[in-house]
Amino acid sequence: MASEDEISLLVIVVDVNPIWWGQQVQRDPQFTLSKCLDAVMVMANSHLVMARTNKLAIVASHCQESHFLYPSKHWKAGDVAGDDPSSGSCDGKYELLSVANDLIVEEMKNLMGRTQVKGHQTDTLLAGSLAKALCYIHRVSKNLEAGQEMKSRILVVKAAEDCALQYMNFMNVIFAAQKQNVLIDACVLHSDSGLLQQACDITGGLYLKIPQKTALAQYLLWVFLPDVDQRSQLVLPPPAHVDYRAACFCHRNLIEIGYVCSVCLSIFCNFSPICTTCETAFKIPLPQMIKPKKKKLKAN
Ligand SMILES: [Zn+2]
Ligand SMILES: [Zn+2]
Repeated sequence: MASEDEISLLVIVVDVNPIWWGQQVQRDPQFTLSKCLDAVMVMANSHLVMARTNKLAIVASHCQESHFLYPSKHWKAGDVAGDDPSSGSCDGKYELLSVANDLIVEEMKNLMGRTQVKGHQTDTLLAGSLAKALCYIHRVSKNLEAGQEMKSRILVVKAAEDCALQYMNFMNVIFAAQKQNVLIDACVLHSDSGLLQQACDITGGLYLKIPQKTALAQYLLWVFLPDVDQRSQLVLPPPAHVDYRAACFCHRNLIEIGYVCSVCLSIFCNFSPICTTCETAFKIPLPQMIKPKKKKLKAN
């Protein structure tokens, strides 16, 4: 049994890529971004009521920015009881939850309100959002009182496709999470994500591509709400096959076999005599060029 003082921090990163969600509504009008957020809030509320010491943060991962939906800048701990009449609970709901939910909805509206989709910027900034989540976890862990312990994990609710351009940043974030003992879980809505498969595998988290999007809340509650200790006692979906292909640094293509710089470990799909990352020059014997033999001129 975990001690009462052990804090469990859950950071949920939600992919709110407006382009993907726009297409999703055309594919399946039953499952919209607001339905997804409802499910995330059910999960978030459940986490908060599981234990007094549970903490929560929610980051929206957009294609222009990563934004904290909760806790938001406009809110300070202690506001919960609320002098603000709008934050009071009117239906007998636990106040902390109704405040949190209102804030999340409000922040989400603000974020979407300032969205300007430009043609070329369509990838979700997931690596950046994960980095923000890690920074937040680090900050909370620095503010613990003496004797307090904290366990933290990140849950990614992933919608849009992977972006090979973010490969390097993404891997760096994964290894940073591993070093900080932060577990990364992934709940994938649509197409499989090789990057998140690796993230979950490396940090000991759970990767699941859900078979039915409309049942998101159920998958979140059954599979992702239990923490690591409880999971060992559950029969969970079998682990996914992990796509361990790496993206080459030259074109960001996923490759199975490539050239690795022996100095900086950069990966390339083509051999180049000078590493473009660390500028090491390699003296590798290239296939001999067949030079036409010079005719020896006889002296005299
Ligand atoms: Zn390449
Ligand atoms: Zn190199």
